[in-house]
Amino acid sequence: MELNAKIPDGPLEEKWTHYKGTCRLVNPNNKRNLEVIVIGTGLAGASAAASLAELGYQVKSFCFQDSARRAHSIAAQGGINAAKNYQNDGDSVFRLFYDTVKGGDYRSRESNVYRLAEVSGNIIDQCVAQGVPFAREYGGLLANRSFGGVQVQRTFYAAGQTGQQLLLGAYSALERQVALGKIQLFTRHEMLELVVIDGKARGIIARNLVTGQLERHFGHAVVLASGGYGNVFYLSTNAMGSNVTAAWKAFKQGAFFANPCYTQIHPTCIPVSGEHQSKLTLMSESLRNDGRIWVPKQKGDTRKPNQIPEEERDYYLERRYPAFGNLVPRDVASRGAKERCDAGYGVGASKMAVYLDFSSAILRYGRAEAHKMQMDHPDEQEVIRLGKNVVAEKYGNLFEMYEKITGENPYEVPMRIYPAVHYTMGGLWVDYELMTTVQGLYALGECNFSDHGANRLGASALMQGLADGYFIIPYTIGNYLAGEIRTKPIPTDHPEFEKAERHARERLERLKNVGGTHSVDHFHKELGKIMWNKCGMSRNAQGLQEAIGEIRALREEFWRDVRVPGGLDELNPELEKAGRVADFLELGELVARDALERNESCGGHFREEYATEDGEAKRDDEHYCFVGAWEYKENAPAELHKEPLNYEVMHPTQRSYK
Ligand SMILES: Cc1cc2nc3c(=O)[nH]c(=O)nc-3n(C[C@H](O)[C@H](O)[C@H](O)COP(=O)(O)OP(=O)(O)OC[C@H]3O[C@@H](n4cnc5c(N)ncnc54)[C@H](O)[C@@H]3O)c2cc1C
Repeated sequence: MELNAKIPDGPLEEKWTHYKGTCRLVNPNNKRNLEVIVIGTGLAGASAAASLAELGYQVKSFCFQDSARRAHSIAAQGGINAAKNYQNDGDSVFRLFYDTVKGGDYRSRESNVYRLAEVSGNIIDQCVAQGVPFAREYGGLLANRSFGGVQVQRTFYAAGQTGQQLLLGAYSALERQVALGKIQLFTRHEMLELVVIDGKARGIIARNLVTGQLERHFGHAVVLASGGYGNVFYLSTNAMGSNVTAAWKAFKQGAFFANPCYTQIHPTCIPVSGEHQSKLTLMSESLRNDGRIWVPKQKGDTRKPNQIPEEERDYYLERRYPAFGNLVPRDVASRGAKERCDAGYGVGASKMAVYLDFSSAILRYGRAEAHKMQMDHPDEQEVIRLGKNVVAEKYGNLFEMYEKITGENPYEVPMRIYPAVHYTMGGLWVDYELMTTVQGLYALGECNFSDHGANRLGASALMQGLADGYFIIPYTIGNYLAGEIRTKPIPTDHPEFEKAERHARERLERLKNVGGTHSVDHFHKELGKIMWNKCGMSRNAQGLQEAIGEIRALREEFWRDVRVPGGLDELNPELEKAGRVADFLELGELVARDALERNESCGGHFREEYATEDGEAKRDDEHYCFVGAWEYKENAPAELHKEPLNYEVMHPTQRSYK
C-alpha cells in the first residue's frame, strides 16, 4: 500500500492557509446529525471533543479514569511552547519550525511541523481566554522560560503545573458541552475494539469498568487521543494507567503504526531506588534553566557533593556543548549522563546518577535581589536566603516533590538525577489531516506518530496535543464528514459490531481462564527489564535480536501462567491491567523490530554501531530518511512500509549543539 500523506501543494508557509480555505465544509444542520467518538480526555482528546461539539457535532467522549480531569496530561509540569516572540529574542514561526525539525533529528514531516509552529500562538490565546493562569511578569505580560534545544525563551508555564492548568481549561470547555447536551461523557470506560465497516471506522466496543459490561457505540468517525505507550518499559514517568490498547486495537484493524522505536528518555528524573518501584518521577526540564549538571572529575569519588570543590567538578554538558550548555535537547543530555555514569563518574549509592545543582542560581538570584533592595554589603547567608526565595517561587512545587521522595533538601544539596523513559514519538501513522490508514479514524496527541521526529523538544507535547485538538481536527474532520452526511447511524446489531464484541469478550475470558501462578505485574516488570536493557537508551543489533526472542518467550509464558483474580462482570483492575500488558507484550516486539530495522542512530534511537567519533548519533540520510510505518498481518510478522521524508526547506545536516 502506498502511503499518501496528503500534503497540500504550494509553499510551506501557505499550505495550511490554502487547506483551510479549500477543504470541504459541513453545514450546521448536517453537523447535528453526525456523531463523533473521541477516545481520551487528555489535552488532545478534551480539546478535540470540546471543539467538535462547539462546532455542532454530536460527540461521545471516553476515558478510563473516574474523571476526565485525571487524564495523564494533568501531570505535565514544565510548560508549553509557542512562537509569540514576547521576549523579542529572535523567535518566529520559522524558528520554532526549524528548532523542532532539527531537534527531531530530521525525521519529521516538514509540512506538519510548520503548521504546528504556525498555530502555536493561537493555543496560548485560546488558553488565556479560558482563564489558564500562566505565569506573568511583574508588568502583567505572560512570562517565558527556556527549554532544551533552543536559544530563545518561548515556553509558557504555570509554575510546575502547566499540564494541570491547561487540562482544567480544556476540561471546562468539555464540561460546558456536556451541560449543553452536545457531549456524552463516558468515564470509567475502556475502548477494547475498533469497529470497521466497509473499510471505514464506525464505532467501538467499550467495557464499562465498573460493571464489566461490554457496550457498542456507533460514530460516523472515531478520533483516538489515547496517549503514549512509554509504560511498555514498565518503569517510566507516565501515569500508571497509560497504555497502548486503543492504538493497538486500531493497528490490528488496519491503522499503520509508525516509528515505534522512537522513545524519549528524559534526562532529569529521580533515579531508580529499588526492585519494588513501579513508577519514576520526572524533575521538569524547566529546572535546566537554572540547574547545572555535573559529576566529580575524579572517578568513584565518594565525597558528599558539597565537599567537592568547584575546580573538581565536571560540568560535562557545558564543557561538551558550550553553545547550548545544560539546555541541550533531551536525547543529547540523556546520553551524556549515561556516558559519564558508565565511565565510572556516577554519584549516589547506585552510582547511576548525576547532580543537578542550584547553588550558582541561588547566589545569582540572591545577588540580584539584594541589589534591587539596595543592600550595599549583604552577607552570603542573606544572599542565599534571598536567592532561595526566588528559586522557590519558580520551582517550589518541584523541589518539594523531590524532597518528599528522596528525603533530601535540594536547596541545600544538589538533586540526584538519571534518565528515564518519558514519552513516545512513535504512534499511529497519520496523514496531514491526522487521519490514519483507516478511513474515518483519526489519531491526535501523543498517540499519533506526531511531529517530533526521532526526538521531541521539551514543552512541545502539550503544544502538539492542543494544536491537534483545538485547531487542526476541527477543519480536517469536516473535510471527511462532508462526504458522510447521507450516512444514517448504523445500528449496533450490525454483524461487525457483533463480531468485535465477541472478539473483546473472548479475549477477556481467555485472560481470566489462564488461571496461572504469576501476577500481571510480574510479566510487566520482566518485559520492562528486557525493553530497558536491550531496547533502551542505547541499542545494538545483537541485543535487539535477543530482545525479540525473549519477548516472544515471555508472551507465551504470560498466556500460560498469568493469574487474573476477580470476575469479568465487576470492577476488576487486575483484568484491566492484564489486557493492557498483553498488548504491551505484542507492541514490545514491534518496537524492537523497528529498532533493529533502522540501521542508523537518530534522536532518541541510538544504535551503538552508528555513532560519530565523539559519541553523537550518526544518521544515514541516504537509506533511512523515511517514516517507518508497520502494517499488521494476521498470523505473519508485521510488514514495514516507508513514507519518504522530503525536505524542501530544511537541509538535513549533522545536528550540532556545540
Ligand atoms: C511527568 C510528565 C511531565 C510532562 N511535562 C510536560 C511539559 O511540561 N510539557 C509538555 O509539552 N509535555 C509534557 N509531558 C508530556 C505530555 O504530558 C503528554 O505527552 C501529553 O499530556 C499527552 O496528552 P494526550 O492528550 O495525547 O494523552 P493523555 O493525557 O495521556 O490522555 C490519554 C487519554 O486517553 C484515555 N484512554 C487511553 N486509552 C483508552 C482506552 N482504551 N479507552 C478509553 N480511554 C482511553 C485516557 O483515559 C486519557 O483520558 C509530560 C509528561 C510526563 C509524564
